[in-house]
Amino acid sequence: MPVEHPRLRRERRTIQSMIEIYCREQHGLPEGKLCAGCQELEDYALGRLARCPFQEDKSVCAKCAVHCYKPEMRQRVREVMRYAGPRMLLKHPVLAVRHLLDERRKSPTLKRRSESPSPPPKSHSPL
Ligand SMILES: [Zn+2]
Repeated sequence: MPVEHPRLRRERRTIQSMIEIYCREQHGLPEGKLCAGCQELEDYALGRLARCPFQEDKSVCAKCAVHCYKPEMRQRVREVMRYAGPRMLLKHPVLAVRHLLDERRKSPTLKRRSESPSPPPKSHSPL
C-alpha cells in the first residue's frame, strides 16, 4: 500500500468524522459505528478520494472541478456536510479549520490550455 499524503489523510479523517457525527445524531448509532447506509456512503467517499486524480493538490471535494461522485452519492454527501460541517468546529476544531484552509486552495483543472500546445489525448478515462 502506498504511503498516504498528509493532505489526503486529513481529508479522509474529515470525511469520516463528518459522517460519524451525522450518523450518530441523525440515525442514533453509537460513537464509532455507522448504519449500513452511512457505511456505504463512507466507503464510496473514501474510494473516490483514493482515486482522485489531483491527490495532494486537490481542493476540498465540494469545490472540485471534477464531479466524480455519482448524483445520488453527491446528494447524500452534501447533506452530511451541511449537517456536520458546523458541528465539526466544536468536535474537531483543528480538522475543521484546516479543512476551511484547504477550501481556499484553488481547485486544479486537469488540463491547462495555455500550457498544453498538443491536443488532449482522445482516450477517456473509464471513470
Ligand atoms: Zn447513518
